[in-house]
Amino acid sequence: MFKPLIKVATIASIVLMVSSTTAFAADCKDKVYKLKLAHSWPTNFPIFADAIHNMAATANKMSSGCIQIKIDSKNKHKAPLGIFDMVKAGQYDMGHSGSYYWKGKVPNTLFFTSMPFGMTAVEQYAWFYHGGGMELMDKVYAPHNLVSFPGGNTGNQMGGWFQKEIKSIKDLKGLKMRIPGFAGEIMAKVGAKPTNIPPGELYTALEKGTIDALEWVGPSLDLRMGFHKIAPYYYTGWHEPGSELQFLFNRKKWQSLPENIQEILRVSMRNAAYNMYVLSYHESAVNWASMKKDYPKIEVKSFPTEVLQALKDANDELIAERAKADPLAKEIIESQAAYLKKSRAWTKISDQSYYETMEKLK
Ligand code: CA
Repeated sequence: MFKPLIKVATIASIVLMVSSTTAFAADCKDKVYKLKLAHSWPTNFPIFADAIHNMAATANKMSSGCIQIKIDSKNKHKAPLGIFDMVKAGQYDMGHSGSYYWKGKVPNTLFFTSMPFGMTAVEQYAWFYHGGGMELMDKVYAPHNLVSFPGGNTGNQMGGWFQKEIKSIKDLKGLKMRIPGFAGEIMAKVGAKPTNIPPGELYTALEKGTIDALEWVGPSLDLRMGFHKIAPYYYTGWHEPGSELQFLFNRKKWQSLPENIQEILRVSMRNAAYNMYVLSYHESAVNWASMKKDYPKIEVKSFPTEVLQALKDANDELIAERAKADPLAKEIIESQAAYLKKSRAWTKISDQSYYETMEKLK
């Protein structure tokens, strides 16, 4: 009795599927959305480039081939830190980079990657999607003919590789360290000499003593760079607790796209961002295990509380200056501070309590 009904229903749904696919394919025949994307990284740079290719493949499949994204790495366009300008001008429709790279150009872009002593990846994602972060990011990018979307998280970054142990704040005075972003400004405020050296030159700079220390990402990417072979101390992090990369879109181009195409792209970017976060976590876990096994002499340390407190004090002073100087900066800073307070209270009672409980058990 039921069999024919099921058959009819199945046939009906197949017919429906075929007809809707056909209708969409017909749309696609009229209009293929060819988009050009430029990113800041070398071709096939692990994890970061994976996120971009993942996004493009998902968008292509979900649109039955109607969205075609051509990807140019920095090897092609030669302007790793030119993504903002190139996408703004429409030279490229899309970009993939890091928001804090544009702080010299548009100071408030600083806040949308990761802030020292700020939110972790999951706290920040909650802020972006449910705590007003996306709206604030749009306020910053809209005047520049851009739309910015979260583009993948590295997870909590390590504090970096050091040639000497850091025992007190005095050890940071005059220390030459590669450390970009707001953390660099904090280091300068406590007397260090921050520099931003391109990734390709980092190993040699540390090996030759041009710099005394550097931070890059964490085990997910650091071991490929070989820093563990030339620096004995690996410090835990404070400065990038959850660095989010970004997909950038030329705003006029974005607005010219039909809603269904926008939605496919939105879902593809969000999915790629999440996948990158998970892949970073996986790569960190795998590389951490191999580092502990193959390089047991590396000393993993945390900065003394006195040092961290001095860095936090410098951070708070610099943040207060920014809030005072610019109403939009103030709005973003207050939004992040309020969300951190709220989300951290939950993190403490959920994740932190769980970790602490597990530590006590055999
Ligand atoms: Ca970093």
